[in-house]
Amino acid sequence: MAEVSLKHIYKVYPNGTKAVNDFNMYIEDKEFIVFVGPSGCGKSTTLRMIAGLEDISAGELKIGDLVVNDMEPKDRDIAMVFQNYALYPHMTVYDNIAFGLRLRKLPKDEIHDKVVEAANILGITEYLDKKPKEMSGGQRQRVALGRAIVREPKVMLLDEPLSNLDAKLRTQMRSEISKLHSKLGTTFIYVTHDQVEAMTMGTRIVVMKDGFVQQIDTPKNLYNFPANKFVAGFIGTPQMNFFEGTLLKTDDKVIIAFDNSTAQITVPYSKLYKAKPEYLDGKTKVYIGLRPEDVSLADGGNKNGGSVVKVKISHKEELGSETLIYGDINMDGDGYDGSPTRIIIKDNGNREWQTGDVVEAVLNLERVHLFDAETEASVLPRVPEYNYLNCEVKGGRLIFCGAEVALPKAAECGDLKGELLLPTDAVIIGGSLKAEIVSCEKINGVYLLALTLNGNRLYAVVPECVDGNSVNIGLDFKKITVKTDGESKITPLPELNEFACKFVKNKAVEEIEINGKVKKQKTVRFGFVVEGTFFEANEENVQKIFAALGLKKAFSAGLKIECGASDLTVADEGIAASVLETLDYGTEKFLKCAVGENIVYVKCDAEKRGDIRLLPDFGRVGVVETEREIKII
Ligand code: ADP
Repeated sequence: MAEVSLKHIYKVYPNGTKAVNDFNMYIEDKEFIVFVGPSGCGKSTTLRMIAGLEDISAGELKIGDLVVNDMEPKDRDIAMVFQNYALYPHMTVYDNIAFGLRLRKLPKDEIHDKVVEAANILGITEYLDKKPKEMSGGQRQRVALGRAIVREPKVMLLDEPLSNLDAKLRTQMRSEISKLHSKLGTTFIYVTHDQVEAMTMGTRIVVMKDGFVQQIDTPKNLYNFPANKFVAGFIGTPQMNFFEGTLLKTDDKVIIAFDNSTAQITVPYSKLYKAKPEYLDGKTKVYIGLRPEDVSLADGGNKNGGSVVKVKISHKEELGSETLIYGDINMDGDGYDGSPTRIIIKDNGNREWQTGDVVEAVLNLERVHLFDAETEASVLPRVPEYNYLNCEVKGGRLIFCGAEVALPKAAECGDLKGELLLPTDAVIIGGSLKAEIVSCEKINGVYLLALTLNGNRLYAVVPECVDGNSVNIGLDFKKITVKTDGESKITPLPELNEFACKFVKNKAVEEIEINGKVKKQKTVRFGFVVEGTFFEANEENVQKIFAALGLKKAFSAGLKIECGASDLTVADEGIAASVLETLDYGTEKFLKCAVGENIVYVKCDAEKRGDIRLLPDFGRVGVVETEREIKII
């Protein structure tokens, strides 16, 4: 039984290479997790940190209930299988498997039983007397697996175990390892650069690139809902088609225009409702992504409501069960790799065509992907971040989707006609507006509620499932933006406050009473100095600071504290601040305060004026080292 938890894990090698950045994951008992990504992305480093073969620069690693950052590999209750098998060449298979058990001084009979059982599971009983050099690669890797499973570890770590095997054996061993996993019921963490291996074996996959986790999800979700262009391109063969282009929303339609091509299609806005609004201006560049299986050759009737582009066919790849047709949506393009307008179509082979033919291809826009042209992040997320709506403000009331609500004092603005950016988590259950429920879907621990309000689509992200046909909703006004002519008239309350701080050691002499006598005693207190005020740090936070920064650097490093408005309270002592105004959001109030040159927001019960003191809740604040942008707490 072992869960593995990685919290803000970093690895910075002595030469400055930041191999792993802010790795966060909770692995449940018995999961089969695969770390996948191109060479150098940090997957082995992460695995080696879990194994204890590499120091952790910052963060907290737990196996089961234990923090194991400083625990020796042999005490971590893990077993590791490497690409190169790492067998002892002079020992027989039996002795190789038994070696670790003998070191642990297990009784001979028990060792024998375990070796025989492992050999049985792995089908290598007949090789027990052989030496590794007499065996094939696949058999040697089975021995290495045997040596790992006899230890009955809490967690099995496998680092590219199949890379040395030929393609056929790899496929066979893949299913054997999956079978082994279900038989053993142990948590497996498996590293590979091969996306097919990852997709076929993992219950969840961690896709990494350049030391950063790109996405953690099930194989199906990675395929259907890639978080960025890298994941979209990495998962799936042949690769997803990507085209640069723009999106222009006009009322209830969106025009998708492809760059370097005359191709242009018009789709109902309802198909792209989840798209981030700032990308619908007809100017902001996006990548349009469509998998080859979501493009087909038109056969007269099948035009899917006009989502059709012209394709000049260049060549094909015959795969037996299907044909890959390569073409170009630019009539001057050559349909090869270097062309930005190349399109690959997975075809079922019913239509006749010749190289050079210009044909019509139907795009399945139900399955289109859109990515920012620079950051490459998805701009059509599975869980949308915003509802993008036309609105009006009249006499202190906000009118949208044919409904109206009174604006609280903090969000008041003059009459206007404009746009409302309503975050999906700012639509709250309970309120004066009645909406119809279309669907309620659980995604990554939250519920995405699709609603209609007077016939208009509205999404809400809520913590619990909502049943029934209709629901009363309200708005969290501190999160909304209202714009007119590109100018924001209502802006959201910032989510995070930041304070510069230092970690310090305070020496003091305290008077303490022992058996009725007052004695003087030297004390050392560790803590944070924020705006000249000292806050004692709790033991856990002190440990995290030292673990991340080392004994010397802890006191010289520039740090910043990050906290939300509810993590600060007005108190008798604390950081000096002066109240600029009280923001009244109806059910909640916030103080806008000046702290030095900084503006911070504090949740409060009542209006306040003048000078106050602020107390951060150090159980909830985050601490970041500013030089390397490493989150320590
Ligand atoms: P992967 O397993 O994904 O191929 P690694 O975890 O081995 O990647 O490496 C991640 C990054 O860390 C790479 O840039 C690599 O060059 C660097 N690296 C790995 N080991 C060391 C080391 N001992 N010293 C310095 N840099 C290292």
